[in-house]
Amino acid sequence: MELLEQRIQKDGLVKAGNVLKVDSFLNHQIDISLLNEIGKEFKRLFADTKINKILTIEASGIAIAAIVAQYFDVPVVFAKKTQSINLDGSVYTTKIQSFTHQRVYDVIVSKKYLSPDDHILVVDDFLANGCAVEGLIDIIQSSGATLEGVGIIIEKGFQDGGKRLREKGIRVESLAIVDAMDAATGQITFRH
Ligand code: 5GP
Repeated sequence: MELLEQRIQKDGLVKAGNVLKVDSFLNHQIDISLLNEIGKEFKRLFADTKINKILTIEASGIAIAAIVAQYFDVPVVFAKKTQSINLDGSVYTTKIQSFTHQRVYDVIVSKKYLSPDDHILVVDDFLANGCAVEGLIDIIQSSGATLEGVGIIIEKGFQDGGKRLREKGIRVESLAIVDAMDAATGQITFRH
């Protein structure tokens, strides 16, 4: 997506440790007109699917999913990161290793909000090693719902999450794929 790549080039900051900061338009301050274009693009890419729910993970996934969901006219469910695992059987749970925070979170979704009738689009801001998306897929599988695809705003193509998911036959649509980035020069190159 040309508009997104231009914005990443202009405002993205490459940090040490393979982290791309996009706080000025996506992860802290949010550019809603850009997100609207992102929503339209996901709708176009997944036009052939019958999605009835979008699943994401807090925190930064929520704003993105909420805007994208308007183009699909479906509700958003977000997985919650929690300290205390609920043992009464009312939630689906999984563990997710956080790339940016270097720790493992327990993540839950209430059984009330995912069922075998659901056709799910998973949405997230970044795809790196794939742990966040794999955790959400684990929850979808526990619920018996159908995964229709994964919509990612920025995939870091030099990390192997995207490759692993596609090898499993999962449909992954990334609006920008970063092929390489250099913290010393700030240079970012995209895959097309
Ligand atoms: P993964 O689980 O695929 O390794 O990492 C994806 C998650 O980590 C995303 O939910 C995102 O919040 C965070 N993340 C991974 N890489 C980056 C990055 O380069 N920049 C930012 N801002 N977040 C990232």
